[in-house]
Amino acid sequence: MLQRKLVLRSLSLLFAALAASAPDRAQAPAIPAANATPAKRLAIRAGHVIDGKSAKVLDNVLILIDGDKITSVTSGGSAPSGVETIDLSKFTVLPGFIDLHTHVLLNGDITAEDYDKQLLTESIPYRAILGARNARIALEHGFTTIRDLETEGAMYADVDVKQAIADGEIPGPRMQVATRAMTPTGMYPLLGYSWELKVPTGVQYVDGSDGARKAVREQVMYGADWIKYYSDRKYYFGPDAVLHSMVNFTDEEAKAIVDEAHRLGKKVAAHAIGSDGIAAALRARVDTIEHGDGLTEPLMDEMASKGTVWVPTVMVGAYVAPGRGGSWGKMVEAEKNAFQRALKRNVKIAFGTDVGGFDWREIGQAREFQYYVDYGMPPMEAIQTATSRAAAVLGWSDNLGTIEAGKWADIVAVAGDPLKDITELQRITFVMKSGIVYKNEPASR
Ligand SMILES: [Zn+2]
Repeated sequence: MLQRKLVLRSLSLLFAALAASAPDRAQAPAIPAANATPAKRLAIRAGHVIDGKSAKVLDNVLILIDGDKITSVTSGGSAPSGVETIDLSKFTVLPGFIDLHTHVLLNGDITAEDYDKQLLTESIPYRAILGARNARIALEHGFTTIRDLETEGAMYADVDVKQAIADGEIPGPRMQVATRAMTPTGMYPLLGYSWELKVPTGVQYVDGSDGARKAVREQVMYGADWIKYYSDRKYYFGPDAVLHSMVNFTDEEAKAIVDEAHRLGKKVAAHAIGSDGIAAALRARVDTIEHGDGLTEPLMDEMASKGTVWVPTVMVGAYVAPGRGGSWGKMVEAEKNAFQRALKRNVKIAFGTDVGGFDWREIGQAREFQYYVDYGMPPMEAIQTATSRAAAVLGWSDNLGTIEAGKWADIVAVAGDPLKDITELQRITFVMKSGIVYKNEPASR
């Protein structure tokens, strides 16, 4: 009896706490981190501004910030008296970057051993602690927003990392999260262990259209902003020189996932590497194609006409290829080729790195920009893939992705000119998120 009373009492406390913090959590600006100064009026004097939208660079710009929002962006002028001014007059200022494909709960999976070890030897709480560290790394590298595309067996811990950041408990980017992701039974690791052992799986196994709808509802109930599923596996080059793959879900199942997600107001990202997996995901009408190495021209045209966004994650493929062997080296070439053709065929390309697929501490996410430019994308467009274009994918065009009055004050800076040398974006000297400065290093040259 006593026990029961205690439970009821703590439940009522819990509900009171939830009610107090519930309003607008998803849309709410980040509350200052414990170690940050409170939001206030600020001015930034910027030498140059790449605003995330215009084709032109603006020079000598004054950006005014009130709380978490940009209130004005003007050429020249001076800050109202008494307003603290941050001097970035020797820097190029850009909107905070958005990475549309991250895994904060993962720390490298070049080989199956790397991956299995994390799921088998690390508890989910431990992985969440590393997730908090990874979120801080992303922010320090200028990524003020991320779409985290599945926890790799860490259940709903991405929702917790997102919440801790939104509540100001830890520094990190604002997040949209996909929680567990889906494949049919047996089509995602961990695999290959004795049938006598109950091992964790990197995704939620889902079978049949009813099962698919239920899984979508369950993931949304526990906080998924996006639904992710794995459209294919086992990639191989056919005699036609096209990258093919084995498709995971039946069309009926994939359509059930997408239909149910859309009915609940959520978008769907499909991991699809081979042409068969991409074609199946497009038939199901997903919103974004992740990786997409095996894109053919007819599939590109289908994407362009349906408005499906391609998140190519180029760098991770190039990085894991030597360690994985097999078709992976040729896949990097195939993706380069596809990228170059997609540039000419109106496919919307948006920025994503798959960080977590490589160790967060080893490579900065901004190296992805370098691949886009090396593959022929103009530097200004490459920057827009991680700013205005990525914001549109997240449904946050009104809040993010450009330096304009009314937007959230997510601002980064570099010392050099990224249009001349795109690797400048790998040397971020200043990071502001929601009007709070997280990094401000003096010019090193
Ligand atoms: Zn991924």
